[in-house]
Amino acid sequence: MHKITLIPGDGIGPEVTGSTVKILEAAGFKVEWEVVNAGSEVFEKTGVLVPDEVFQSIERNKIALKGPIATPIGKGFRSINVQLRKKYDLYSNIREVKNIPGVKSKYENVDLVIFRENTEGLYIGIEEMQDEDTAVAKKVVTRKGSMRIAKSAFEYAVQQGKTKVAAVHKANILKLADGLFLDCVREVAKDYPNIELSEVIVDNMCMQMVMNPSQFEVIVAPNLYGDLLSDLAAGLVGGLGLVPGANIGNDIAIFEAVHGSAPDIAGKDLANPIAVLLCAVHMMKFLGDFDRAELVFRAIIEVMEDGKHLTRDMGGNATTTEITQAIIDKINHIK
Ligand code: NAD
Repeated sequence: MHKITLIPGDGIGPEVTGSTVKILEAAGFKVEWEVVNAGSEVFEKTGVLVPDEVFQSIERNKIALKGPIATPIGKGFRSINVQLRKKYDLYSNIREVKNIPGVKSKYENVDLVIFRENTEGLYIGIEEMQDEDTAVAKKVVTRKGSMRIAKSAFEYAVQQGKTKVAAVHKANILKLADGLFLDCVREVAKDYPNIELSEVIVDNMCMQMVMNPSQFEVIVAPNLYGDLLSDLAAGLVGGLGLVPGANIGNDIAIFEAVHGSAPDIAGKDLANPIAVLLCAVHMMKFLGDFDRAELVFRAIIEVMEDGKHLTRDMGGNATTTEITQAIIDKINHIK
């Protein structure tokens, strides 16, 4: 029995995480959810964005499934996602990007994973105005940060039976910072002689991913390039609503969809639960329950292929409740 922290979040969060909980139960995944909440709605009631019990629960269980959280607009609020990443040193941001049969997209045979360094690079947020007309932002790349993200990417490649890792950089211009990142990836690659390493300059990478995305299996990138490429990759397979994400450190892992709280459709039973559900599939694999992960993934694919219960964003007119039930019915049928 796994004990997992569940943070439903704001807007459509409770609907899509609620759908996921029901589907995992139908699949027979053995879990005890510890439900705690954070976000705008919690803030309105309590004046605190992330109550202590959320941190305590994550620290106790070491693993969390998180719905989208709306950071209140206004000065002084740091993004909760950035806070969690920093606090728990969640240095690998992993995005699995794969075609889902039945979902219209511009490309076929996309099956790639991006490992984005999540804690350094340009996103450390150290900026200053040197004078009135000159802004400077610092980019920090460390050996430790680069080695561990490279190791995560290669380990994943081995575990998942992949054969290639592409390292993304701009070391031709940023010789020290990206140069160090690239050196670290090369060093790690020596321990994985069966995995082929390619080195791709980030501008070329953008073009290659648009021209022929199926040439890539695992991509490892510093923070900024990884961020941009992750959204580009989501666009290859049908958009953000279909792509899961994970933030993983040495001790703690937080799985969350890439999309936001969608206030325009919140509470209307219109949200697409697939992205959060795919997060849960990734989470089950992470926990070693490959059978349940495969069962849920297969049920998703079959419902998509049938095309009868797609939510509005996927071109259908099913409600969240209807697509959830359709996936549960498929699971029961496959079992
Ligand atoms: P959004 O992703 O919430 O919505 C963008 C558009 O996509 C909307 O039209 C929405 O209806 C649609 N959409 C998103 N997810 C969908 C789903 N599952 N099913 C169907 N349609 C979906 O982005 P936004 O409007 O820029 O942000 C809204 C709020 O979410 C903001 O407060 C933002 O801070 C927050 N946000 C949180 C996260 C997170 O917690 N990981 C990520 C992004 C944005």
